[in-house]
Amino acid sequence: MWKVPLFDISFDEKEVIAAQEVIRSGWLTMGEVTQEFEQRFAEFTGVKHAIAVSSCTAALHMANRALDIGPGDEVICPSLTFVAGANSIVYTGAQPVFTDITSLNDFSISPQDIEAKITPLTKAIQVVHYAGYPCDMDRIMDLAKTHQLHVITDCAHAIGAEYKGKMLGSIGDIGCFSFFSNKNMTTGEGGMITTNNDELATRIRLMRSHGMTTLTLDRHKGHAFSYDVVELGYNYRIDEIRSAMGIQQLKKLPSDNNRRRELSKMYRKNLSDIDGFEIPFKNHFKTSSHHIFPVLLDKDVDRQNFMKHLKDKGIQTSIHYPPIHQFEFYSRNFGYKDDILPITEDVAKREVTLPLYPSMGDKNVTYVCNIVIEYLKKGRS
Ligand SMILES: *Cc1c(COP(=O)(O)O)cnc(C)c1O
Repeated sequence: MWKVPLFDISFDEKEVIAAQEVIRSGWLTMGEVTQEFEQRFAEFTGVKHAIAVSSCTAALHMANRALDIGPGDEVICPSLTFVAGANSIVYTGAQPVFTDITSLNDFSISPQDIEAKITPLTKAIQVVHYAGYPCDMDRIMDLAKTHQLHVITDCAHAIGAEYKGKMLGSIGDIGCFSFFSNKNMTTGEGGMITTNNDELATRIRLMRSHGMTTLTLDRHKGHAFSYDVVELGYNYRIDEIRSAMGIQQLKKLPSDNNRRRELSKMYRKNLSDIDGFEIPFKNHFKTSSHHIFPVLLDKDVDRQNFMKHLKDKGIQTSIHYPPIHQFEFYSRNFGYKDDILPITEDVAKREVTLPLYPSMGDKNVTYVCNIVIEYLKKGRS
């Protein structure tokens, strides 16, 4: 349908064969393939523990729970992100406190605004590495230390991105990853939690499976006959089919991320010095996982028309993001008003995301850029 879709998965026979092998093995629920996936992911990210789960939303929920966040607590988080982050705070009964982004060039949470929003009720800071560009983790970790706050990192965009030589997901208390189908690697649905803290890892493993002290696999192997329940847990498990696909996807990730970087570079080169918009994250290029390619239209460019024109030319675009504090549910339940996060609200009106995925050919980048340039020239002359 689209000549150039917004994204496409990076699958081939390897994922098909891996999934088939699991199905033929007869053991589908969380077991040894998942353990292998977790070990590989922990190694890749440079952390002690990786815990595979059913989604990043599940990961974020358990991250908040494991840090004992609940009613009466405040958690600082960005508004310019996917709603799952704030939802995961609300699930616990805590209050999300929305914080502005840094600038029109840096769409990550502003450390200055984090500092301004810390109160005696603040328990944690939940950050998002927007588009895969790392937040200012030094300043965020300093603030956390000074005010004794936990740090949860939503790394849904940031698989394979680095900050000062460290993989994202290895800084802060808990990292949360997504393997939803539009992410840098996918298992359809799925996610991962990373932590270096043994106690948190133990608690999260329990919570992932109803707070039960043994797994079906343990009982199958004759290691246990019964179980106790020691936590309020969930069914947030991944399964072996997804883990098998995840192992294959993780192997491809470094080369897929390189390709994303090349494509981003091409975009930046072709679109430099064009009147009508800016490309954010100018100085963050090297360490990003290049999850998406956002641009910021000038105030006098009509976004609706721009996106419609690209659609007519077969190019799918998107908006990242409608801000969470302006959603009806959030304004109704928490009383958040407009005009409280000026940079977020400004960017949210003008941002457009252009297509980016590893199998996107050079020709497609040229095509998209030509259509964009042509529109902006015509639209403004
Ligand atoms: C995709 C995404 C999520 C949710 O991930 P799921 O695996 O679909 O639950 C959370 N946060 C951000 C920033 C995302 O992009």
